[in-house]
Amino acid sequence: MKGKSILTKVAVCLLAVALGLAIASSTETGYTVHDKTRPNPLVITPAERFGQPPSDAIILFDGKDTSQWQSEKDKGPVKWQVENGYMEVVKKTGDIRTVKEFGNCQLHIEWWVPPDVDPKITDQKRSNSGVFFMGRYEVQMLDSYTDDNYKTNKTYADGQAAAIYGQYPPLVNACRMPGQWQSYDISFLRPLFDDKGLCIRPARITVLYNGVVVHNNVEIKGTTEHKKKAQYSPHDKGPIRLQDHGNPIRFRNIWIRELPEQPYLIAD
Ligand code: MG
Repeated sequence: MKGKSILTKVAVCLLAVALGLAIASSTETGYTVHDKTRPNPLVITPAERFGQPPSDAIILFDGKDTSQWQSEKDKGPVKWQVENGYMEVVKKTGDIRTVKEFGNCQLHIEWWVPPDVDPKITDQKRSNSGVFFMGRYEVQMLDSYTDDNYKTNKTYADGQAAAIYGQYPPLVNACRMPGQWQSYDISFLRPLFDDKGLCIRPARITVLYNGVVVHNNVEIKGTTEHKKKAQYSPHDKGPIRLQDHGNPIRFRNIWIRELPEQPYLIAD
């Protein structure tokens, strides 16, 4: 009898541990390990060629149509030059932004800086633009190409191409020579705020520059600013914005995928 009662106690303990583990796993995701009721992911069709949009992407710019964009200044039509499959910044017409607003997303964008810039134009004035997430968080675009035969455009590290402006230099300089198309593939997790406007989860970003990881899931410290410490102010979804910094930068093949929230990452 005594042996049986010990066995019963052990069995009860094991059951309790198993139940505990099952509950622990279900509180994070709503599903237990290998749960057969867990839905399989939505099927999408990847593009035939790398860099092209998969079937669930929103095409933001296909080389001709700018209807997904508007002028940041007056919310009117885009005043940038559209020709030969790209659009080019027209100085002083201002930034452009997407009509639609986004939160968590994956963005692909290709950009080009001219090869024939006056070498006296340097630093942040040399082929500057940038892509802003939620209208606030800039991944810098600049002529940062360097090799033995090319006069490198010197600037501060957290302002060179692919920097999270004013916060993080890229891990490496993967810049292509001016006159060649370059790409960013970026995944962005939006910041979250409580009802008092306090940031309870900073934004995070991963950036591939010409296929090379240059930011690996880094925490954005707040709105990217010039000569100012970054800080957060509360906001909801926002546009993708492209910068008119007075330089003739070109863009093509821009697409975006909206990504769902990840509840298990939300802080209490
Ligand atoms: Mg810029």
